[in-house]
Amino acid sequence: MIPVIDKNGYYGRFGGSFVPEMMYKNINELQERYLEIIESDEFRKEYEQLLHDYVGRPTPLYPAKKLSVKYGYRIYVKREDLCHTGSHKLNNVVGQALLAKKLGKKSIIAETGAGQHGVATATICALMDLKCTVFMGEKDMQRQYPNVMRMKMLGAEVIPALSGSKTLKDATNEAIRYWINHPDDTHYLIGSAIGPHPYPDMVARLQSVISYEIKQQLLEKEGKENPDAVIACIGGGSNAAGAFFNFIDDPSVRLLGAEAGGCGINTGFTAATLTIGTEGIIHGCRTKLLQTADGQVCEAHSISAGLDYPGVGPIHAWLNELKRGEYIAVNDTEALNAAFELTRLEGIIPALESSHALALLSKLTLPPDSIVVICLSGRGDKDMETYMDKMNITDSR
Ligand SMILES: *Cc1c(COP(=O)(O)O)cnc(C)c1O
Repeated sequence: MIPVIDKNGYYGRFGGSFVPEMMYKNINELQERYLEIIESDEFRKEYEQLLHDYVGRPTPLYPAKKLSVKYGYRIYVKREDLCHTGSHKLNNVVGQALLAKKLGKKSIIAETGAGQHGVATATICALMDLKCTVFMGEKDMQRQYPNVMRMKMLGAEVIPALSGSKTLKDATNEAIRYWINHPDDTHYLIGSAIGPHPYPDMVARLQSVISYEIKQQLLEKEGKENPDAVIACIGGGSNAAGAFFNFIDDPSVRLLGAEAGGCGINTGFTAATLTIGTEGIIHGCRTKLLQTADGQVCEAHSISAGLDYPGVGPIHAWLNELKRGEYIAVNDTEALNAAFELTRLEGIIPALESSHALALLSKLTLPPDSIVVICLSGRGDKDMETYMDKMNITDSR
């Protein structure tokens, strides 16, 4: 494990904990206990068992032969899309639910935008007999109705956020309000490497199983643990944090993050936070975000709901500043093209989020025969409507 944060939860100047006084009790408890718990032998044993038996780990590291021929690299795809519920999200959710139990909590709350994190949370709560309440913007509930039904079938209560734009940020406000009023028995389960300390570090550690497995699998397949480059998409930055984690202290491994460029970084319809964002505080931590000159948070845009976020995890703001990580914006159409390429060459339909990572293959030049690992964060079932629209456009030409 690489201790990259200081004791106050900072990566350089990024991170920290900026929360209202009413939240101190909950946050302090987590700050004091999380590391001791998640590093204990008892926790590791239960966590690893669940990852193996329930989530389906280790996920394959698939050598993508036809993709490799096309680009002239040795390309491996880390198949997080094969995790239970269809993405890497369950790695984090399983860990936090176990932690909540160790802290004596009986109830879990979460906020969700597109519903993927809400479904993962409802899933683990069903398994572990935890009461589950998911806050979701009313507008998002209408747009993502199948996920609302999944959460309800799994036994979760879905509470519509009726204020403001009735989307993710309003759901977050409702979740925080609820937590402040139920500090003793409730854990707030954040779904990405964002939020106040200790969430970014806790989530990165829980997702670090991705790079841990990559090392073992590459050793088996290539005779060495380290690739030349790792590529992952960046929403809040949890799958990327997990895919980078065990390579951070080895500068020979290039860490490449694909941000959502949306319609283009200069169009106002973008989520390319590290490319065009500025420093500030969002959701309890200091990081880069999309904001106006007077500090109003901008609305983000991406064709993929999972990348549609105006902030970014502080670990990436820090890696970007150190130039240890390289972050590149990928536009909506580039991601769509990459999704079709992987589907037709390898028979794998990727999530739109993950397609941003795939698209970096045609935007970058690496030395021939480089060993490149792409984190395929999720599967594309949820994105079929968008893909069908795109096919119609292609067919009518
Ligand atoms: C939620 C999600 C993401 C974005 O979240 P990160 O925290 O940046 O990993 C990416 N891919 C998929 C499939 C997702 O569901």
